[in-house]
Amino acid sequence: MRRYSVFAIAREGLRYHAGWARAWASPTPKRRYDAIVVGAGGHGLATAYYLGKNHGLTNVAVLEKGWLGGGNTGRNTTIIRSNYLQDPSAAIYEKARALYETMSQDLNMNVMFSPRGVIMLAQTRHEVRGYQRTAHANALQGVKTEFIGPDRVKQLVPIIELSGPRYPVLGGLWQARGGTARHDAVAWGYARACSAMGMDIIQNCAVTGIETEAGQVKAVNTSKGRIETGKLALVVAGHSSELAAMAGFRLPIESVALQALVSEPIEPCMDVVVMANTVHGYLSQSDKGEMVIGGGTDGFNNYTQRGSFHHVEETVRALIETFPMLSRLRMLRQWGGIVDMTGDRSPILSKTPVGGIYVNAGWGTGGFKAIPGSGWAMADLVAKDAPGPLAAAFGLERFREGRFIDESVAAGVAH
Ligand SMILES: Cc1cc2nc3c(=O)[nH]c(=O)nc-3n(C[C@H](O)[C@H](O)[C@H](O)COP(=O)(O)OP(=O)(O)OC[C@H]3O[C@@H](n4cnc5c(N)ncnc54)[C@H](O)[C@@H]3O)c2cc1C
Repeated sequence: MRRYSVFAIAREGLRYHAGWARAWASPTPKRRYDAIVVGAGGHGLATAYYLGKNHGLTNVAVLEKGWLGGGNTGRNTTIIRSNYLQDPSAAIYEKARALYETMSQDLNMNVMFSPRGVIMLAQTRHEVRGYQRTAHANALQGVKTEFIGPDRVKQLVPIIELSGPRYPVLGGLWQARGGTARHDAVAWGYARACSAMGMDIIQNCAVTGIETEAGQVKAVNTSKGRIETGKLALVVAGHSSELAAMAGFRLPIESVALQALVSEPIEPCMDVVVMANTVHGYLSQSDKGEMVIGGGTDGFNNYTQRGSFHHVEETVRALIETFPMLSRLRMLRQWGGIVDMTGDRSPILSKTPVGGIYVNAGWGTGGFKAIPGSGWAMADLVAKDAPGPLAAAFGLERFREGRFIDESVAAGVAH
């Protein structure tokens, strides 16, 4: 793989960019791989990458039914933070956040990580207490956050209206090294690095069946034929239940549409990410100047990947109380993704009832920020057939044993 560098850009600039090689190969599947990852979203690609980088396992295929990054990875609002309440969550999200800091250098691809800071607004007394508690927990976990008062919020976000009629801003949980990254570039960077290690990234290849023998995985059936493997990682977000059904087990996951929208581009007016969890809206400004707005999930299970207009209306109506300037913007486009929700709003990184099958799912509305940490932990699990310290708490058995990692009550929202 030829390295991207300032010299490469200058050279290609002089010859009309005719010399760039394809970023990743498009091979036909082999008969057998040591490991197969289903799903070329960020989590699947990161799993493959760390299987190669950390464990030297490179006879690996990543199978994707559509195009890589075309699932939730390419549809999210890219918020990165690690200010979670529970210790296992803080550990894996902070690992991920730290890996984002050096991802561009590591993958030799500019993923535009922008640690511009994230504020979670406290707009009720309950939220003030909740976020103060999270700030204390984060201090013990080694995650740098602080609870800030309304004046500091106004300083950081000049366009905010502090004295909203229903939800005045009483303060916020501030993580200065939280931020955003370019979602497509994260997927492309991992794909390019995997391909360079000799792995096969196979797009337009839907897994349609899973063969097992004596409780052990044997092969997958795909739209491009049968492929044998001894290790199978299911990393398909909203489609996890479908894949689990193919292997003969069930997952405690519900799939719902989550949606987002962007406004027309405007002059730079906000250089931090703001989350307003009480009214359930969150906001950042993209490099192009669009206000990127995330909303809530549909209240019913579905696979539509579209979202609904009443949610757009609800989200914008609620946000306008805190950001009156939004009322003057035209909204440009809206889209949805199918997210995989667990009961405790924490992920599943686990062995399964079938030997050699592993599942990485349940990141729900907040898994973009976790991609590198999740891939790191999942590769550990797949390579060693046992969870390492980052994944240990996220096994499937926690639902049977009642050991929930409850982030739903703690955060109320998880983007
Ligand atoms: C609107 C929206 C906003 C969000 N905002 C944020 C945010 O601000 N911050 C944050 O951290 N997270 C956010 N998220 C959540 C985040 O996007 C996801 O948690 C994360 O991208 C999941 O990545 P993934 O790799 O697991 O899944 P995906 O990117 O969905 O990848 C799974 C892949 O599996 C493929 N697949 C499915 N079935 C099959 C099959 N049978 N065979 C082969 N391939 C298959 C799919 O085509 C897909 O490409 C948001 C999500 C949405 C929808």
